[in-house]
Amino acid sequence: MARIIVVGGSLGGLFAANLLHRDGHEVTLLEKSKAPLDGRGAGIVTHPPLLEALARAGAGADQALGVQVTQRVVLAQSGAVEALLDLPQILTSWGRLHQILVALLPAARYRLGFEVTGLTSSTSAVTVHCANGASLEADLLIASDGLRSSIRAHCAPEVEPCYAGYVAWRGVCDEAVLSTHTLASLFGYFGFCLPPGEQMLGYPVAGAANCVEPGERRYNFVWYRPAQEGPELRGLLTDDEGRLHAAGIPPNKVTQQNIEIMRTEARTLLAPQFVEILEKTAQPFLQPICDLSSERIAFGRIALMGDAAFVARPHVGMGVTKAAEDALTLAQCVTEHGANQEALLDYETRRLKVGQRVVERARQLGAYMQAQGRSHPDGVAVERDARQVLMDTAVDFRRPGSARQAAPGPA
Ligand SMILES: Cc1cc2nc3c(=O)[nH]c(=O)nc-3n(C[C@H](O)[C@H](O)[C@H](O)COP(=O)(O)OP(=O)(O)OC[C@H]3O[C@@H](n4cnc5c(N)ncnc54)[C@H](O)[C@@H]3O)c2cc1C
Repeated sequence: MARIIVVGGSLGGLFAANLLHRDGHEVTLLEKSKAPLDGRGAGIVTHPPLLEALARAGAGADQALGVQVTQRVVLAQSGAVEALLDLPQILTSWGRLHQILVALLPAARYRLGFEVTGLTSSTSAVTVHCANGASLEADLLIASDGLRSSIRAHCAPEVEPCYAGYVAWRGVCDEAVLSTHTLASLFGYFGFCLPPGEQMLGYPVAGAANCVEPGERRYNFVWYRPAQEGPELRGLLTDDEGRLHAAGIPPNKVTQQNIEIMRTEARTLLAPQFVEILEKTAQPFLQPICDLSSERIAFGRIALMGDAAFVARPHVGMGVTKAAEDALTLAQCVTEHGANQEALLDYETRRLKVGQRVVERARQLGAYMQAQGRSHPDGVAVERDARQVLMDTAVDFRRPGSARQAAPGPA
């Protein structure tokens, strides 16, 4: 039995901690937040490897994950159906996955209020130092501390997030407040609207207390919009007190003025069904979209995983699935080699290229989606193929044929 510290109590860290705990190791998961993380986050698209990791972590097959849809739809700006595609998918939420994974880990193994601020490592052990004065030693340190990982900053300070040139407006809207027309148009589908150079997508997710009954669900949306680095982006990331949140603005700090501008522009760009959702979402928020790609993810007895290792733009919808796969591979390598440097080197060999490929694929999809529909220098607008967007977005592109099911023409 090895002593293993996992840093970061979000989904990636919880997958790793649960799998290693089930393999009999003494796992300690350190999360900097003092309060439980429940209620954070929005919708998550699931893929088969995510379901496999949940089962390996001990989740019963009877656990309701979320809402199942069977088709994807593109709505034109008029609100009419532009394209349809059969593609069954379970749409869950960050909160639901977090609830399941927290319940599987013994409470004593999950320590809130432990922010890792420093570390020392030798060939035989790693010691982490926390803001609350605690120091803990382990055989392995697994860093799942996200896009701004402080462990990565220690091991590979040259690797930094790179802004992609656009933001995602996000939010969830209660089903109960929506008109019957919007419910009928959107709730049975993974929905899209494709204004030139932009992309709106959304899907139904569970409502309060993870209820999936009609009337109780919510609609999760993501609207990708260009925002130039400099004054435009800074304006979006600045709160009412004039404070700039360069690394990401908390949802409740997004200014009402920016929300109103976004809603006004929606009226001229989006299908009325999506406009209604934006108008009835109490607190829309925004996130800058970034890429992050690593050249190494094993450093002696320290490994990076999840968003600390690679962040792919959300068009592939793979963030949580990739974190779950990282955790599965880590646990496998520790089983095969023991809790040592060889295990982490093997983990790096198995996961580095996968992470790089996912980031690259997401970049291509982002570039395609953002560029299409814009005017070319010769003045010719490029038409975007709506059905291609339906087939490419948020599918596990590594499984041949998985997304390319029968694609009926426009209805
Ligand atoms: C717009 C958008 C849409 C997305 N849609 C999807 C989707 O449909 N499907 C999908 O799979 N993924 C999606 N993702 C990505 C997904 O949210 C992440 O990839 C996933 O949650 C894995 O993250 P993680 O656990 O590695 O890190 P994070 O979720 O970033 O968690 C890091 C944790 O570490 C903690 N922490 C940080 N520093 C320290 C420290 N020093 N000490 C202790 N704790 C620390 C933080 O408090 C946090 O809890 C989306 C992302 C965005 C931005």
